[in-house]
This record gives sequence, structure tokens and C-alpha cells, in this order.
Amino acid sequence: MVAINIDYGACQGCGTCESLCPDVFKLEGEKAIVLKSEGSDSCNLEEVVNSCPTGAITVEGLEIVVKEKKPF
Ligand code: SF4
Repeated sequence: MVAINIDYGACQGCGTCESLCPDVFKLEGEKAIVLKSEGSDSCNLEEVVNSCPTGAITVEGLEIVVKEKKPF
């Protein structure tokens, strides 16, 4: 069982998470929300976590290798 969380203070509304996993993430205004906190079979959560430019997405209960971010 996993639980996906978004740090709304860090989210910049870029839409990357929604474009990678539209069944799990959705942009509402300028922030992303989680539609399915347990994720889905078609969603690679590790890829999403590492693709978020601000590191706003965290996933509890899943071993994820967080790649080092390049400075902007
Ligand atoms: S990828 Fe990160 S910054 Fe972009 S909308 Fe999703 S949570 Fe927000």
C-alpha cells in the first residue's frame, strides 16, 4: 500500500506529473492534486517523483531512488 503526497507549497503547477500519469495526478488551477493516492498499474511513480522539477511529490510505502536534482 502506498500513499502519494504533494507538497502544495513546492508544487509549481508545471503539469509534468499529470502528463506522465493522468489517471493519478491532475492539475487544479496552479497545483497538482492526487486522484488516486495508491497510484495505478500504468503509472511509474519512481519516474514521476524524479520528473517533478521541485521535488514536491513523495510516496510513502514505496522504495524509490530519488535522483539528485541538477540545479536550475
Ligand atoms: S510535476 Fe511537481 S511541480 Fe509539476 S505539477 Fe506535478 S507536483 Fe507540481
